[in-house]
Amino acid sequence: MSDTIFGKIVSGEIPSEFIYEDEHCIAINDVNPQAPVHVLVIPKRDIPRLVDAEMDDRDLLGHLLLAAGNVARQLGVDEAFRLIINNGSDAGQTVFHLHLHIIAGRKFAEGHMAG
Ligand code: AMP
Repeated sequence: MSDTIFGKIVSGEIPSEFIYEDEHCIAINDVNPQAPVHVLVIPKRDIPRLVDAEMDDRDLLGHLLLAAGNVARQLGVDEAFRLIINNGSDAGQTVFHLHLHIIAGRKFAEGHMAG
């Protein structure tokens, strides 16, 4: 497991409330939410960045998207949410253990990527 904060959360070394868990991933509330709903979907497997994923990870990557949809449904935001992956520090990635941001609960600007 990665030595990052998310690796430690996944392994239980750092206690955190999982709002969702299955065989391959967990979801937690972001500690510094950017919207009323801001959840992180984190694979249990340690992949530092999206570009570090390999062909063997394709099932896992698909699983993460399905899990994100399930979490959005669970939270009642499945009609309107954004899914964001920051890849690399210049793109804003600060934790180098792959994670998906589910952001919802506020109106996003139309046609504006950064919302
Ligand atoms: P990124 O910038 O894409 O790497 O996202 C990292 C996210 O993790 C940020 O939105 C942080 O607020 C969040 N974060 C950092 N530490 C924790 C933690 N212990 N529990 C929950 N979220 C965290």
